[in-house]
Amino acid sequence: MGKILFPQHVIARKRDGAALSREEIDAFVRGATDGSWADYQLSALLMAIFLRGMTPEETAALTDAMMRSGVVADLSAVRMPKADKHSTGGVGDKVSIHLAPMVAACGVAVPMISGRGLGHTGGTVDKLESIPGFRMGLTIAEYSAQVSRIGLSLICQTSELAPADGKLYALRDVTATVECIPLICASILSKKLAEGIDVLVLDVKHGSGAFMKEKTRARELAVALTSVAKAMGKPARAVMTAMDEPLGHAVGNALEVAESIGCLRGSGARDLMEVTYALGAQMLVLSGAAGDVAAARARLEGAVASGTALAKFRELLEAQGGDARVVDDPSRLPQARTRSPLPSPRSGFVARVDAMGVALAALRLGAGRARAEDRVDHAVGISGLVKVGDRVSAGDPLCVVHSNDEGAHADAVGMLGAAVVIGDAPVTPAPLVGEVIG
Ligand code: URA
Repeated sequence: MGKILFPQHVIARKRDGAALSREEIDAFVRGATDGSWADYQLSALLMAIFLRGMTPEETAALTDAMMRSGVVADLSAVRMPKADKHSTGGVGDKVSIHLAPMVAACGVAVPMISGRGLGHTGGTVDKLESIPGFRMGLTIAEYSAQVSRIGLSLICQTSELAPADGKLYALRDVTATVECIPLICASILSKKLAEGIDVLVLDVKHGSGAFMKEKTRARELAVALTSVAKAMGKPARAVMTAMDEPLGHAVGNALEVAESIGCLRGSGARDLMEVTYALGAQMLVLSGAAGDVAAARARLEGAVASGTALAKFRELLEAQGGDARVVDDPSRLPQARTRSPLPSPRSGFVARVDAMGVALAALRLGAGRARAEDRVDHAVGISGLVKVGDRVSAGDPLCVVHSNDEGAHADAVGMLGAAVVIGDAPVTPAPLVGEVIG
């Protein structure tokens, strides 16, 4: 039997600024998983880590211990290279829905485990659950079998996977210890690396609608994520992207699925496709399926143009019990009772579409959840949203509001009116895709 490590001794060492040993980190994660550490002890160590930080070695050890707190999927039977993408979260970020089948159509398997939305950012799980019948609660065994069969699976986080993160994240949420790079790194990577992937591409966002508002902090996170993943033997690359206005034209669950289907049909919004191709190209290059970014992008464009990406999406829906007829007829997705355009109060150029303002309007309509136990309304949200730089005339629609509740509708209209700023001068949108790290 190993040496007993008392929680209070481990906490005291981190409080005093020491680097924790592998054994100490293992004891902490074991304590979170089996309940042998009390919540106040776990919380005290989380706060000590928040204040004192962690070395790259400690962060890698924490990530590894959290990953091993549950099942690590074994996808060694899958013959194709296996890549996934993780986004730190944004508004209107439906990229995973169309990116995963595009990449799978290019011969790289995408085993993707996603989260539900919380706060102002939506989650891929909520979006896909708007498809009638689509089942995301697959077991890890079902998920592995499906990746072997069709090279693609999109499921929700299960309690089998990195359970220590579930416990620690819930404590961080209520102890002001979320905004800590080593803890964020371990939280994200423990779940992603338990998927059984070969390579990982990260979309690290900055801006008003992002989790990390400041670019320098977001860059620090990107460097930490890619170096810890590499230290754990997984090639990883991060793409820095701006999140000051929502991605694409739609915000809301079913509305975003419909927009993603449009992307697979070749009619995706320019900004949305720019981010999609930037991430997808890195997935193909990192997994060895393409020699360089230009060749990778050409393959992804080919998968859209030929219809193979759309066919792969249909295959995914059928495999997970979803109504594949939505692909040809998105009106089969949940529809809100009321749809009304929001007219522009004046003529001019769109100077700003505040991502956070739009997200809060969607939240007010019921598209997201303020607390983990809230239910989302899949039908509501915003479509046809203008983009920065668009020219508008007075009375032109700035967006269409989809609602199921009169009071929420009125509030959302006010919020959207404040989020979209029209100016006199022509505006050139700021660059969306920035530095690639790793
Ligand atoms: N997303 C996660 O999964 N974990 C964090 O700590 C932050 C964002």
